[in-house]
Amino acid sequence: MFKAIYIDQAENRYSVALTELENSALPEGEVEVAVEYSTLNYKDALAITGKRPVVRTFPMVPGIDLAGRVTESRDFRFEVGDRVLLTGWGVGECYWGGLAQYARGKADWFLPLPNSFSSFDAMSLGTAGLTAMLCVQTLEAQGVTSNRGDILVTGASGGVGSIAIQLLAHRGYRVIASTGRSDNRDFLTSLGAADIIDREELNSTNRPLGKERWAGAVDVVGGQTLATVCSQTEYGGVVTACGLAQGMEVPLTVAPFILRGISLIGIDSVYCPTEKRREAWSALEAEWDNTQQQGMITQITLSEVIDQAHTLLEGNVRGRIVVDVNA
Ligand code: NDP
Repeated sequence: MFKAIYIDQAENRYSVALTELENSALPEGEVEVAVEYSTLNYKDALAITGKRPVVRTFPMVPGIDLAGRVTESRDFRFEVGDRVLLTGWGVGECYWGGLAQYARGKADWFLPLPNSFSSFDAMSLGTAGLTAMLCVQTLEAQGVTSNRGDILVTGASGGVGSIAIQLLAHRGYRVIASTGRSDNRDFLTSLGAADIIDREELNSTNRPLGKERWAGAVDVVGGQTLATVCSQTEYGGVVTACGLAQGMEVPLTVAPFILRGISLIGIDSVYCPTEKRREAWSALEAEWDNTQQQGMITQITLSEVIDQAHTLLEGNVRGRIVVDVNA
């Protein structure tokens, strides 16, 4: 038997609970893992609360991230005892995920844990860390350099935002953090933000072109915010868009694209190709300081996951939530 968060939808009634399952209930897959740590992401919170249709098949074990040790393998790339991590690939949406003590899936989904990372370290980053690094690497691939000007990070107190600030500051960028929580000012400064703006500044109906402020941006918020960020991006600047914490609809005009030549680039971590993931995780291993993360990680147990999912969607979580599935 193993413990798992279990979502079901019998007779159109959405239900979620911490439950015990037989190991034989695990879905088919080439690799079975004893999970050590998982995480709670924005998408997991949507799945658990049922606020958006994240879950595609029922019943479902949510959890888009996991790290642990291989307990069974029918694939030549993995042996029993190997330390592995998994993020995305539809896990926690279409396939059973990491908010459980055991998981099983396709060998292609798993990556070896970076050598210097524990499974806790890997999950302190998880999907949020991978996404933040993909944003940073995309900005740089498009020619954004630290001498070009300020880089804006929206949704700064959240998982992707707080990691993006640290990665950019570590690479020498001047980072401006946008947040709705002024009480997080000291926290964001401690992560490396040079200045902090109130997110309402980016939420007003914008003119097609605003004053040029950003050489680049990491946007996790979408909605009106993303439109305003584009309108304020400097000539030739680059905006990476990865989230929708504010909303899906983006009231954009073409003006920033055709008059300032800005680029808006979408970032997806879920089906990101394996080679790109390896590069991102290897950069995370080189640049991420595990010893400096006390202020931004909340560790919880499986029994706390459902309550925390609601807290996260209320915007009351700071940084990352790591789940010890065996506590
Ligand atoms: P978090 O909940 O940890 O952070 C989101 C942050 O956005 C909040 O902390 C808050 O920051 C800000 N925010 C929340 N609601 C609003 C609002 N109504 N208006 C403006 N800002 C708001 O989520 P994550 O960091 O894990 O994920 C952020 C987004 O990125 C989500 O939409 C998620 O689905 C998406 N995502 C996409 C990925 C991809 O592959 N494309 C991968 C990972 C995440 P503050 O309080 O500082 O203002």
